[in-house]
Formats: sequence, structure tokens, C-alpha cells
Amino acid sequence: MQTNYSPEQGTRGYKEDTRLVPWWSVLLAVCAFVGWQAITFRILVPLDPHPKPTALVLFWSIFIGVFFAFYMLMIGYVNRDAKRRGMSPTFWTIIMLFLLASGIGFIVYFLLRQPLVQSCPKCMERIEPDFNFCPRCHCQLNAMCDECHHSVRAGDIYCAHCGNAVETPSLVRAR
Ligand SMILES: [Zn+2]
Ligand SMILES: [Zn+2]
Repeated sequence: MQTNYSPEQGTRGYKEDTRLVPWWSVLLAVCAFVGWQAITFRILVPLDPHPKPTALVLFWSIFIGVFFAFYMLMIGYVNRDAKRRGMSPTFWTIIMLFLLASGIGFIVYFLLRQPLVQSCPKCMERIEPDFNFCPRCHCQLNAMCDECHHSVRAGDIYCAHCGNAVETPSLVRAR
């Protein structure tokens, strides 16, 4: 019998697109920036009874525009990141929008987010970090000790749990 574990499987694939921000949030960011410039120069400046120096207006309009644009990108990032962590993207996108004014939406998110969800390299079944085998397709995910069946790290010579000498490259046959 042969093990179907291979070292490349150490980096387990995520089935989601791994780009950090989706296209719609980049679009939102551009719209937010351009929109804010339009509001500033078409509405706020003409309405101001005491016109401010152009340099100052320009500085603030760009500063605030960049903040809105950045926040739109963060909403996209949270939406995507929540998905690959098995959290509700809709819920977290709404939370982010809700906390927009405070600017702390993504701080809350980073404090509360779940660890990354991993999936089986063969069948994409969701797996936990301590799984040695995929529960659906029996793909071996981690090298393990053939004595006590605890997982061992690649390159270990003895099992850290029972002291059994582990085969190099520390693999056992899948059964
Ligand atoms: Zn599988
Ligand atoms: Zn062992």
C-alpha cells in the first residue's frame, strides 16, 4: 500500500478565489473617491460663504476621499475574507457599513474573525487543522505516527507523543 500524502499538500488549497479584494469593491472605492471630489467642488465649495484657500480644500477633499476609498476596499476585503473563514459575508459586510462612520468596523472584524477554513486538496471537503485524513475521500492530510496515530511534522525522527521511531520522511501508509 502506498501513502497518498505528498509534501506539496502541506499548503492546502482554498477553493475560493484568493484575490484579497473583489472587483466591485475596487469600483466602489473609485466611485467613493470621485464622488467625494464632486461633492466637495460642485456643492460644498460653491455654498461656502467664506471660501477657503484652494490648497486647503484640495488637501481635505483628497484626504477624506482616500479614507472613503480605503474603507470601500476594506469592505470588499472583509466580505471575501469572511467567506474563506466560514463566517457570514453578508452579516459582516452589513456590520462594516454600519460602523462606517466610526471607522472601527474592520478593527472589530479583525478581533472577532475566525481562523481560515481549509479544504481537502482532492475533494475540497472542509477540514479542521487537526485532521489527519479527509473525512470524505480518505486523502492523507498530515504525516502521522503509525504507533499512536498522532500527527508528526515532516522531518521528525521520533514521534513526539509516544517516542516511536517514525519512518523517513515521517510518513505512514494510509490504511
Ligand atoms: Zn477529500
Ligand atoms: Zn506516536
